[in-house]
Amino acid sequence: MSAVPLRNARVAASGVRSVSVLGATGSIGDSTMDLLRASPERYQVEALTANTNVAGLAKLAKEFNARFVAVADPARLSELRAALAGTDIACGAGEGAIVEAAERPADWVMAAVAGAAGLKPALAAVDRGAHVALANKECLVCAGEFFMDRAAKAGATILPADSEHNALFQALASGNRDELTKVIITASGGPFRTWAAADIEQATLAQALKHPNWSMGQKITIDSASMMNKGLEVIEASWLFALSPDEIDVVVHPQSIIHGMVEFSDRSVVAQLGSPDMRTPIAHCLGWPDRIVGRAAPLDLAKIGTLTFEAPDYARFPGLKLAYDALRAGNGATTVYNAANEIAVAAFIAQRIRFGAIARLVEETMNSWIRAGNLAPLSCADDAIAVDHNARDMAAALLPQIAAKAS
Ligand code: NDP
Repeated sequence: MSAVPLRNARVAASGVRSVSVLGATGSIGDSTMDLLRASPERYQVEALTANTNVAGLAKLAKEFNARFVAVADPARLSELRAALAGTDIACGAGEGAIVEAAERPADWVMAAVAGAAGLKPALAAVDRGAHVALANKECLVCAGEFFMDRAAKAGATILPADSEHNALFQALASGNRDELTKVIITASGGPFRTWAAADIEQATLAQALKHPNWSMGQKITIDSASMMNKGLEVIEASWLFALSPDEIDVVVHPQSIIHGMVEFSDRSVVAQLGSPDMRTPIAHCLGWPDRIVGRAAPLDLAKIGTLTFEAPDYARFPGLKLAYDALRAGNGATTVYNAANEIAVAAFIAQRIRFGAIARLVEETMNSWIRAGNLAPLSCADDAIAVDHNARDMAAALLPQIAAKAS
């Protein structure tokens, strides 16, 4: 299995880097554009994409003089054309247009579409051998093996943009693979870290969206509150760095200052620290293999004073344990885990299920999937996409009974 390089194979960075940002109007997109804005002489924007936010996309396209922009919603093409009138920016709409954006000849692509919808465009960037900064963890959770294999075959460089994985990427450069004993991913614990199980069960959307440290998109913020996000990250780390589930630990660290650590055979633990601001890992990806000037506040440890750590509580946050179960089961189980979670989060946002039912729907979908004999080796990304679709259908079918059941 292929993994990202542990030691940086340093190559000279050329003058101007052409970049595309998939999911430019989202939270990661916003942080990426902020960094690009700070160094206009270093970057040329090739393509930008959004789902439905035509106004935001057109504004960015004009500001950065992008060559091509695309919205996923096919019904918004005429609106996009009108918003770009008087410019020579080419545009498209629909899923194919998002893939086309990824296929355009940018050296560096930020993959920051939310959810499994980001898989096909990210694969398109991978297949042409680009440097792909990967924020969209669902790509790896759905189809990690094929994603990493296709990257290796095409000579693409996957740069982990998720803060924990970027921390591991940096710390791993301190040793060799055979010297590594385990990696440790930190988790803030989210807004419900200290809540009783009964209160977590009844948590509202507004409460779930109040993350103590990070400002992020809606889906990942809810995933952080359920700790499903940490589960997705365990799976992501497994594919990125070719690690077994036993080599990946999670520790709750409420201050979110240490993002990831690597323990080596001599018991040295190498950590990466920084203010909880996604612009730091994105800057690392954007500059790689060099370093650029960051935009996050400098870390002031004396002001922070105390860093604390706790073991994760699988009873109150069962979604994290389910991720390990899915990883061990293999054969498409992580794809099912992700698909069921996306259905559950959408149902929670629509107030169809309680917060506590998110993990129950994921568990029930995984169990039903296994009971039905559906676990089977996947042979390509299209297999993973088919599992994703079928698992969504199964989760949607199970939703009414999960919604009706008391905890
Ligand atoms: P947001 O919801 O803030 O933004 C998502 C972006 O993707 C928007 O540009 C949105 O367009 C676009 N989009 C949504 N659905 C589709 C679709 N079906 N097809 C094409 N484009 C679509 O998400 P985040 O920026 O928070 O997260 C993006 C990814 O990065 C996720 O996978 C997340 O897990 C990961 N990530 C995020 C972190 C963060 O701090 N936010 C940290 C680490 C990882 P529109 O604006 O039109 O809706």
